[in-house]
Amino acid sequence: MTEVLTEKKAAAERISLPVFRPDFMADAHVASADDRLHDAMDNSVTKRDRGRRTTLADLPDADGLRELAGQIKRHTLDHLDYYLELLESNVKKQGGEVHYASDRQQANQLIVEIAKRAGCRLVVKSKSMVSEETELNEALSEAGIEPLETDLGEFILQVDHDHPTHLVMPVVHKNAADIGHIFERYFKTDFTDNAQTLAEMARVHLRNRFNQADMGVSGVNFAVAETGSIVVCCNEGNARMCVSRPRIHVALMGMEKLIPAMDDLPVFLKLLARSASGQSLTQYSSIVSGSRRAGELDGPEEFHLIIMDNGRSRILAGQYRDTLRCIRCGACLNSCPIYRKVGGRTYGSVYPGPIGALLTPLFNGLEQHKHLPHASSLCGACFDACPVKINIPEFLIKLRGDQVKAHITPWAERVIFKLWTIGLRFGWSYRLSQVAQRIGMRLLMDKQGWIKHLPPPVNGWTQQRDFPAPAKEDFRAVYKRYRREQQRDTSHTKEKQ
Ligand code: SF4
Repeated sequence: MTEVLTEKKAAAERISLPVFRPDFMADAHVASADDRLHDAMDNSVTKRDRGRRTTLADLPDADGLRELAGQIKRHTLDHLDYYLELLESNVKKQGGEVHYASDRQQANQLIVEIAKRAGCRLVVKSKSMVSEETELNEALSEAGIEPLETDLGEFILQVDHDHPTHLVMPVVHKNAADIGHIFERYFKTDFTDNAQTLAEMARVHLRNRFNQADMGVSGVNFAVAETGSIVVCCNEGNARMCVSRPRIHVALMGMEKLIPAMDDLPVFLKLLARSASGQSLTQYSSIVSGSRRAGELDGPEEFHLIIMDNGRSRILAGQYRDTLRCIRCGACLNSCPIYRKVGGRTYGSVYPGPIGALLTPLFNGLEQHKHLPHASSLCGACFDACPVKINIPEFLIKLRGDQVKAHITPWAERVIFKLWTIGLRFGWSYRLSQVAQRIGMRLLMDKQGWIKHLPPPVNGWTQQRDFPAPAKEDFRAVYKRYRREQQRDTSHTKEKQ
């Protein structure tokens, strides 16, 4: 009992990710009835999933490449201390500075200090999930520094005070008309839902602001330990502007984003683009190695790499280490029937979808997000899609087990599953439980043979649909009767002969 209480207390204390919408069940209820959301999902998410399958099929051995990527990541995580030191020393050799942040507050503080020391007033940002994790924009604004998102999707969300709902398509929940209304308010122009016009409006606005920025902040898709380089992938060219145009470049990364060597990079570039967007390669893959050197035409005067832990070393030390292999491609989201139905907002944190259902409770504690490990049909589509072969369904089942051990699962549910386990263990108890179940359920059925309301704690089944009552006879009885009839027929035939 003491262990359980300690686990609950620890869970309540370790809030590493910001939580936007804590009530998964209520939000899922609303989202699953939202036809506009489903149209948006069909237009983008499903299309990307198809694109992933098609472009992966172009590779001679896509499955082998995924296996290799998973092995490289596992090896890196198993020797993370070594590779982090190697990365640090190589970044320093390239003229950059390396900072370690134990949590998201410290990461933000480091960035704010760098900006203040250099007298920065405007910071341009490229798309970065880890900066969503730290809520960097809020921290910069509080310090009197203007943050500006330069990825089109992130820019739309910033001016609309909204949050991303997908790892690579942040604005997937909005259609062109929604964006038209947002820009109408922000730019004070006439409404249009023409995608090209809307993109042009943002482009003109952002181009000018790049020239005014003193500092650029980027995420890191991969950090190459062997060379001290960071790799930033994007399709709009804005990340390249963020890392090269301003005086200072700060790259923020989670400590798991490492790969050992430059030779490993093509493996991940091939898989990332295909898995994320169905492209053979992302439009721009920038490899940044430190600050600008004498004779170079562009690049920042200062380069800072911030390596953030924020709960990762705790995950690294436990049975969920493999989840840190994630390269944030979003393929598991695109393939997930639950994500497609409820959208990313419902998951309540910066990491939605199947990987979010794992990472959010791991970062913040199971108590806080007890519904997320159950937000899955365990169909395995996410595992099939994952370019680094993270077995998400298996980990979700483990998390469910942890919930039972930590007594987070309601007692009634625990008792039912205990009884169920006993029922399944022996032939006689299985048969007995089937008889009891059938009698109980048939008492609840209506004249048409449907159960409209099941009692708690299984009443969730009948909240959205009716439950079919079990047949009068079970399969075993029908089969026995069939065999008996067959034997009788055979003996009759023999007698006649
Ligand atoms: S878990 Fe796998 S599929 Fe999902 S975002 Fe991470 S790398 Fe991509």
